[in-house]
Amino acid sequence: MATCTVPTDLDVLVVGAGFSGLYSLHRLRQMGRSVHVVEADDDLGGVWYRNRYPGARCDIESVDYCYSFDDSIVQEWTWTERYPAQPEILRYIRFVANRLALRPDISFSTRVVSMHWDVDAALWRVNTDRGDRINTRHVIMASGQLSKPQLPAIEGIADFAGQLVHTGDWPRDGVELSGRRVGVIGTGSSGVQTIPQVAKQAALTTVFQRTAHYAIPARNQLLDPDYVADLKSRFQEYREAARHHPGGTHRKIGTESALDVDPQALHETFQRHWENGGPDILAAYRDFRFDEQAAEKAGAFVRDRIRDIVEDPETAEKLCPKGYPFGSKRLVLEIDYYTTFNRPDVDLVDVAADPIARVEGRDIVLESGRRHELDVLVLATGFDALTGPLFAIDLRGKDGRTLEEAWADGPATYLGISTHGFPNLYVVAGAGSPSVISNVLVSIEQHVEWITDLVQYLYKNGLDVAEAELEAQERWTQEVYDVAAPTLFMQGNSWYLGANVPGKPRVFALYLGGVGHYRDICDRVAAQDYEGFTLS
Ligand code: FAD
Repeated sequence: MATCTVPTDLDVLVVGAGFSGLYSLHRLRQMGRSVHVVEADDDLGGVWYRNRYPGARCDIESVDYCYSFDDSIVQEWTWTERYPAQPEILRYIRFVANRLALRPDISFSTRVVSMHWDVDAALWRVNTDRGDRINTRHVIMASGQLSKPQLPAIEGIADFAGQLVHTGDWPRDGVELSGRRVGVIGTGSSGVQTIPQVAKQAALTTVFQRTAHYAIPARNQLLDPDYVADLKSRFQEYREAARHHPGGTHRKIGTESALDVDPQALHETFQRHWENGGPDILAAYRDFRFDEQAAEKAGAFVRDRIRDIVEDPETAEKLCPKGYPFGSKRLVLEIDYYTTFNRPDVDLVDVAADPIARVEGRDIVLESGRRHELDVLVLATGFDALTGPLFAIDLRGKDGRTLEEAWADGPATYLGISTHGFPNLYVVAGAGSPSVISNVLVSIEQHVEWITDLVQYLYKNGLDVAEAELEAQERWTQEVYDVAAPTLFMQGNSWYLGANVPGKPRVFALYLGGVGHYRDICDRVAAQDYEGFTLS
């Protein structure tokens, strides 16, 4: 992708050309600000450009996982599937970018490597890996939540003698799987999506599972054109409801306790969710998020379905999630996942019982000494979520401290958007906000609108700097932790808690108070002339 020169002086630099960065660019251009986007990758799309592994798919419905800010775009685009696959989402992002003529203001293959706040000039001094030096008053970090793939710490893995690929950085030209012996490490969302597709092509598929995840059928299907047309005719009203919903969706939230319902009614509810597919089962009862016994009712139901589907009882038992509450890790949507294990050419290796010791040549060697020889090794091992993309930059605030030092005990933010000591720096849909616990598209639109409004407010009022006050930040950070504390998420040992990255502080850094409530808080702050920020 041809790329353009980065301007040296800007009102706003946007880092990243995924959903967040593209909307930020559009809105700031409309506001008349000088703005430019730098993108490390060679094209736009963010995670939907990179995660092109077979089976990659969204687990929010397409009609919800899209922009709403321009109704003509809503009317011109027509989704074809309930849960859109990666190629369709990427086509959509490209359609929007072309429609709004965004590309001329994006520099591709350009990674921000350092950003230092110059106190005297009240500017960010930014350097890229192509040698650009940019002076910008504001920076919007649209650098993503899941844009930094996490590699497992396995001895010898980098020297694997076959082909090594990460689902989050899938080669553009694809990977030849047919007739080959393919291993997959990781059985979270990406692993569960890709394993059935890999198995259809590979001669032998070996799945290395450390933790079995709860997976619910997606029941993906082509969308009925009448349904889509009806939604389009009232889309703004439809989206407005999502903006005020706790998850940024239209999920019905149960008011009963799963512990008060008789077993037959409980079973019928779960069965209905299983047949309808999708993640709505998470909200079937009001206490799923808080009560282990309640959550276990759904957990037991899912394990029974796995035992129904998987023919070999030993394999079925290995696939049954145990040891953590249902819903405390990201719920996975599956298409043909459990049935894949009925194939004679698919093998499940329980690496919790017999851990991977090392990689030698083409072999995965287990602690027991067992070896699995492979041609291709697929790492579906997730991401250094939320903080990873930010810490990859030498990002220094007012007193020369790095963001990583400032967040040594976990992300400390005001509203998830701003950090004391790092003026004029705004993070879109990151830690301290609903982010990946919500329909991220609704959260992105809310953040981009709020942040760009703040930037415009400063210019309109002749102000240069917005900095989060320490006290406001401490209150917000405590609020984030307090809301999470009573929930079962604290028991999930998940990437939400940073548990997949050695040495990462174990904190739940997502705001669980709900998308609608969060929006109200942000709106109130803006209405009170950005209370909690020092403006100068
Ligand atoms: P990204 O799409 O991550 O884009 C960030 C961009 O910033 C990237 O292109 C990256 O290259 C660039 N960048 C990072 N650092 C730098 C730097 N230093 N210099 C220059 N550029 C940089 N969300 C949902 O709500 N529902 C889902 O079902 C869902 N499914 C997902 C499935 C997968 C496989 C993945 C990986 C994520 C999924 N997400 C989902 C979350 C997804 O991350 C968001 O929905 C959304 O796409 C994020 O958009 P973004 O623009 O904020 O970030």
